[in-house]
Amino acid sequence: MISILPEPKHLIHHDGSTRAFTHLRLTADDVDALTPDEVRDLAVLRFHNYPGIFADAPDAFPVHVHQGSIEDAAVNLAKPEMFAEQGYVLDIRDDGVRLSAQARDGLINGLTSLKQLLAEREVHGDNPPGTLSLPTCLMVDYPSIPVRAVAPTFSWYAGYGRIGFDMQLWGYDEWELFLHQCVDQKINQLNMVMYGYWPFEFPEYPETSFTDIPVEVWNQENGRFIKVKYSHPNVADNYLPRFIELAHRMGVKIMAYVGLNSYNGGWTIAHPEKRMIPPAGSDFLNDFDSVCLSDKESVNYILTAMRRIAELGFDGYTLEESEEGFWFCTCERCTERWGQHADTPGEAKHQANLELLMKIREEVRQVNPDIIIGIRAFRQPPLEKDPAWLQATADALPDDIVLFWAPALYVPPTEFQKWVKAFGKHRIWARDTESNSITSTMGRLYRTFESNMIRYGDEPNVQVIERDIEQHIGSVEADVHGINGYIFEWFGLFLHLFAHGNYGWGSRLEQDEFFARVGTTTFGPALGARVLRVMREILTIHESQIPLYTTPFPFQSNKMTDADIPRIEQAVANHEPLLTEIRAIRAELQVNPRLKVWSKHFDRLENAERRNRVIYDLVLAALAYEREREPEKRDLLLDEVLHLNERDFDIAKEMFFDLMPVGWTGVRSCMMPYHEMKRLIHNLRHPEDTDNDIICSGIEALGWLWLSDKDAS
Ligand SMILES: [Zn+2]
Repeated sequence: MISILPEPKHLIHHDGSTRAFTHLRLTADDVDALTPDEVRDLAVLRFHNYPGIFADAPDAFPVHVHQGSIEDAAVNLAKPEMFAEQGYVLDIRDDGVRLSAQARDGLINGLTSLKQLLAEREVHGDNPPGTLSLPTCLMVDYPSIPVRAVAPTFSWYAGYGRIGFDMQLWGYDEWELFLHQCVDQKINQLNMVMYGYWPFEFPEYPETSFTDIPVEVWNQENGRFIKVKYSHPNVADNYLPRFIELAHRMGVKIMAYVGLNSYNGGWTIAHPEKRMIPPAGSDFLNDFDSVCLSDKESVNYILTAMRRIAELGFDGYTLEESEEGFWFCTCERCTERWGQHADTPGEAKHQANLELLMKIREEVRQVNPDIIIGIRAFRQPPLEKDPAWLQATADALPDDIVLFWAPALYVPPTEFQKWVKAFGKHRIWARDTESNSITSTMGRLYRTFESNMIRYGDEPNVQVIERDIEQHIGSVEADVHGINGYIFEWFGLFLHLFAHGNYGWGSRLEQDEFFARVGTTTFGPALGARVLRVMREILTIHESQIPLYTTPFPFQSNKMTDADIPRIEQAVANHEPLLTEIRAIRAELQVNPRLKVWSKHFDRLENAERRNRVIYDLVLAALAYEREREPEKRDLLLDEVLHLNERDFDIAKEMFFDLMPVGWTGVRSCMMPYHEMKRLIHNLRHPEDTDNDIICSGIEALGWLWLSDKDAS
């Protein structure tokens, strides 16, 4: 059985196997513009986790790489142009491997498949000890669409309520490994999110760079927080040029996913007077993400920052419009120039942003005439757009501006077709596939599947991996230019990478079959099934889902009720076996030289599952508090909620870096609901002395509050 992912287009498995070997002997012709030596270098690069495998050892198995042509495909090609650009033919026989590709990108994909076949047989455990083998097969393979992107975070609201977590704290080595793991799934673009303090040096505007930012770090040794100054790892080591060069060698484009007048560096933290002016008397919390575009100095700053990004070597931009679409700057100049000509504040904002976009386009094309410019916009209600409005909007954008967002969720399927028609399928590069990023708002708890939640069907936010997959399938069916899948958090959440890779390539695999294959091909059949069972069975309740937690959190917002108690008790009973299994899987991974690269994911799952157990008790205590009528008993139950809140935070402190509220914008925020829980309970107990300084559960939640009130919007 061959289970490698992305699922190959055409595969004939001869049900046999090559002889056992320890090395591969590579010979090559010229391929595309590559010399045989360059082909060999690419092979060595792609087999980074098999160092030294290409050698003339006596038992080496021969691999010959040669220039391909359209005639190599002995099958009907649905997309001959995709086969030419990114396809390959891999012919593995008893006497050797022949790999052909017409172009460099196809060669990289073919080398990747060869490595994945080797790895799959290795984790299957069928080879004699210390040897490798390959299945004899013929593979004719190519993607259905040109671009399969993922969006990781390089910085995410840094300084705006957050410092960083997971990949935002990585140095070069971790990014190098992640890049290889992306290419293993035939991802060919990374849309690197940079929100907040710039994760690079910016000498013209040093106050906006992620340099020497004060952070309180938990010190377990002494049981106290310590104040330190922290710089982004790329500011400390400047590894971005090397990283971009490595990505380009493997055919991967690196895009800057940044705000279009939104969270652009630390500018609006350092210069609060440059912010947009909200309507008088309004209660919008977020006045800090965008600048007043009538201010020339601010516009110059944004243009200089965008130029800097082009100079750093990025291949393009995903420019996201602020989600604050319900108001626009009310200063005199903005009102005169945009506000008074628009029907809604959202329209005024969009018109102002469009003018900024044209200036950015002119500025950055001076650095790189081919740089890609895409936008992520028009996401606010009404979610169903008037077709005439949509066409006018599309016509107002130059044809070389592409879209990194198109609808999918909360609307009928016909809505996507409207966008494809209005903008043209060549301009659609992404949809609403954010389930991983939704999870990453949850203070490092785990959540992937519908089954990880209580009453998924009642949740206003529907983003789970199952919905991501459906959207990718729909995108390929509509024959658009690209897909983008979010990976804001890597540890514990790696299934999303496989999903974005496989369904972006064009697979139509039934979902359960796909998940089973991820397990089999990555960990072997037995361990793979166990990994998947753990990931499906974890039940996660966010701390904010108790009734007394009244601060809105739109990403997982079902409030727990007494009717949920049986499900919670079931999870309590399942906890010890599940935790034991997570630790057992991790122990197996740690002693396996090939698989230990995955063990960190299970550190994270262990921490999350331990917190889950405490949160179940917290929910049960909070529900008992709601039922209780006697004041003394109610007070004791609040004590218990507070105690469990401390226990939950204690476990988080063992592992995570970014734990304390950040409030330099004037609005405090923290991904850990711990702090807000304490404030809310203080206010319940002391109505005469309330603390009204809310601590939001993540700045990104502010733009989504319409979801809590979906019917009203
Ligand atoms: Zn203004």
